[in-house]
Amino acid sequence: MTPGQPEQAIQNEHDYILQTYPRPDFVLERGEGAYLYDTAGRRYLDFVAGIAVNALGHNDPAIVQTLAEQAPKLIHVSNLYHTIPGGELAKLLVASSPALDRVFFSNSGTEAIEGAIKFARKFARERHGPNKTSIVAFENSFHGRTMGAVAVTAREKYRQPFMPVMPGARFAPFNDVAALEEAITDDVCAVIVEPVQGEGGLHVADQAFLQRIRTLCDQHGALLIFDEIQCGMGRTGTLWAHEPYGVHPDIMALAKPLANGLPIGAILLTDQVAGVIKPGDHGTTFGGGPLITAVAQVVFRRISDPQFLTHVRHVSSYLDEALQDFAQSHADRVPAVRGRGLMRGLQITGSAATVRAAAHDVGLLVATAGEDVVRLLPPLIITPQHVDEAMAKLAQALQ
Ligand SMILES: *Cc1c(COP(=O)(O)O)cnc(C)c1O
Repeated sequence: MTPGQPEQAIQNEHDYILQTYPRPDFVLERGEGAYLYDTAGRRYLDFVAGIAVNALGHNDPAIVQTLAEQAPKLIHVSNLYHTIPGGELAKLLVASSPALDRVFFSNSGTEAIEGAIKFARKFARERHGPNKTSIVAFENSFHGRTMGAVAVTAREKYRQPFMPVMPGARFAPFNDVAALEEAITDDVCAVIVEPVQGEGGLHVADQAFLQRIRTLCDQHGALLIFDEIQCGMGRTGTLWAHEPYGVHPDIMALAKPLANGLPIGAILLTDQVAGVIKPGDHGTTFGGGPLITAVAQVVFRRISDPQFLTHVRHVSSYLDEALQDFAQSHADRVPAVRGRGLMRGLQITGSAATVRAAAHDVGLLVATAGEDVVRLLPPLIITPQHVDEAMAKLAQALQ
C-alpha cells in the first residue's frame, strides 16, 4: 500500500460508516495462518479469528482454491433451483449430528436463531394450540441482534433501546438447576441455551444443568435449542460443544466458523420438528448458495476429521495449562480463568478493553466479553508455539 491509504481508510470509516464499532487505529490488509498484517507491515498474532470465525486461519490454500474453482461456475441462483454444494453440505452436517435430520441454511447466526424460534413456535402451535409461545433463555446469553434473537439475549442494553422486541421471552439464571422447574412450564415452546456462553463471559454449562433442561423440556413438551454458533464446530475440542454432555437438542443453530469467514448460518432440526414446516413457511434469498456451501464443505470436512479434533484437544490442554500458570503468576490481575477448549476467558481486575489495547501494541489481537473478561478465540490451527507467544505478549500487555 502507498502511504496515505491507511489514514484514508480510517477517515472513510469515520466519515461514512455507521458508528457502531470502536476500532483500533491500524488497518488490516492480509493474513496468513494465525497471523494478520496491517498496512504498515506490522504483524499480529490473531487470537480473535474474526470472533471465532476463521477456524482454519487466514489464506488457507484449500479454501482459496475452492473459491477460485466454484466462483466461475456458479455463485448464486436462489433457492428456487437445485444446485449441488448445499445438499452435500447438509448431508455432511446431518451425518455428524446423531439427533438431527435436516438443515435450513441462513446467512448469519442471528438469522439461524430467528428460524429456530419460528420453527419452535410453529411446532408448538400445531401440536398444542396457539398459547404455547414462551421461550426461556438464560442470564448472560447472547443470541444475536435481530428482534427475535435480541429478545432472548440477556443484556439489557442490547434490547432496551429497541422495545418492543419479540414478546414471550424470559430469562432464568444460568447453571441454576433449582430455578429451572419454575422457569420451564407448560406455556414454554422452547428453551434456548449456549452450552458454552460466548459474549456473556465464557461460562460453561454444568452437566446437571443441561440434563435437567432436557428432562423438563420433555415433560412440558418444549423444544430444546442449542446455540452452537460460537462454541460449535471443534472450538471446545469436540465437533459439537454439547457432545460430552450426552444431551441432544431438537434444534441446533450454527454459523460463525462454518465457511471460515463467508457469511453462513445453519439450523439443524429433527424430522419431528421438520414435519410441521411446509413449503413457503420460511425462506431466504441468499442462504445456502453454491459458492458459500462449497467452501463450507471444505471447512466442515477438515474440522470434523478426528485427527483435526485431536489436534484441537492437544493444543487446548496446552493452552489450559498455560492459562492456569498465567493466572497464578498474575494472581492480582487475573482472578479467574473460564471457558473450554479454544474458547477461553481471563477475568481481569480493571478494564479488559485496556488490556486489549495494550495487547494490540505488542502485536496480539484478543477480544473482550463484557467489561472485565479478555476473550481468547484463536484459529483452531494454532500450535503450542502460538500459545507461548500469546502468553508472553499477554504478560507484556498486563504490565
Ligand atoms: C455471534 C453469535 C450469534 C449471532 O451471530 P451473527 O452472525 O453475528 O448474527 C448468536 N449466538 C451466538 C452464541 C453468537 O456467538
